[in-house]
Amino acid sequence: MFCAQLIACEANPAISGQLSSNHRLPGHHRDDGFTNSDGSRVNKPLSELFRWWWSRKDLDLQALVAPDRIKAAWDQMPKAWRSDVPAEKPSGNRVQALANQGHEVQWLGHATIFLRIGETRILTDPHFSERASPLSWIGPKRLHPVPVAVAELGRIDYIVISHNHYDHLDLPTLRQFAMQSGGPPLMLVPLGVDSWLREEGFERVIGLDWWQQNKQGEFAFNFVPAHHWSGRGLFDRNKTLWGGWVLEHPKFRFYFAGDTGWSEDVIEIAKRFAPFDLAAIPVGAYEPRWFMATQHINPHEAVRMHQALGGPLSLGIHWGTFQLTDEAYEDPIKELIEALKHQAIPLDRFRLFVPGQKMTLEPSIHRGD
Ligand code: ZN
Ligand code: ZN
Repeated sequence: MFCAQLIACEANPAISGQLSSNHRLPGHHRDDGFTNSDGSRVNKPLSELFRWWWSRKDLDLQALVAPDRIKAAWDQMPKAWRSDVPAEKPSGNRVQALANQGHEVQWLGHATIFLRIGETRILTDPHFSERASPLSWIGPKRLHPVPVAVAELGRIDYIVISHNHYDHLDLPTLRQFAMQSGGPPLMLVPLGVDSWLREEGFERVIGLDWWQQNKQGEFAFNFVPAHHWSGRGLFDRNKTLWGGWVLEHPKFRFYFAGDTGWSEDVIEIAKRFAPFDLAAIPVGAYEPRWFMATQHINPHEAVRMHQALGGPLSLGIHWGTFQLTDEAYEDPIKELIEALKHQAIPLDRFRLFVPGQKMTLEPSIHRGD
């Protein structure tokens, strides 16, 4: 038997040790944390980190994300990516009126997606702070304002977190949502992140291992593998799990990839859960490839992922908000268009939004529902 039902087994090494003598632990569990599904770890030696930093000495990183460059990139996004629905802010009666229409998806920057399915509101990797960093005065600074204030979103029911990197798990943001009126949202997080969040004072937290599912009314939240790593400091590398989420609802099926390098995991995910109505796939933070390829896919691999998922409506995430790596602001846009054209995929099947852009999706009916 897997310890799949025993969420505490990794968080508590004593339980883990006890179990290993009688039960088979999932293959990605190790005494010192987790591995990718193929047994690998993204452990870059310091020498490679220094080599990357050294290679940046001639790059004008600020010029790559200069404000006029950002504006030009947004202005030049193709028409096919502009949804028909204006990005007005829902509030009060408007929220209620929208509740009976189709689903709604809105990109709030980086990996933060707001989803409204009927009257249920869900956020992925919410980040509303000024920096993706442990420190308030240094580290990647946001390149555009937060497009929608927390108070304007309505009460959030669920938050899913992909992993504990600072650009995906922002404690000040989570604290804001924990204090929302009507009570805190339920947070669904990777194994190990749950116990840490409880130590930080959060109460409504559920931690899942890969392929585990948590049901909440009509929704099923499934945590699925990604090829990445975790860590917030010097001594917690790979101690908590990382991954993506599949959200199942009778009228909507959504895949949120989180952070990932290319991996065959996506084929298994498609086998178990496709067809999807919507997929959120990372397209940014990918240069230089020699350093980034094992942890972040590039737009060409993102298109490959879109195809492996069966070609759902896809939305590119993990770009445009924080400068984490060496590509220019507009590169994910250009390379995604190039990759889609190369594969003869219509541009409106894999879109990028400007921050705050939203679209309405028609409800669909899924097998077995
Ligand atoms: Zn990450
Ligand atoms: Zn990231």
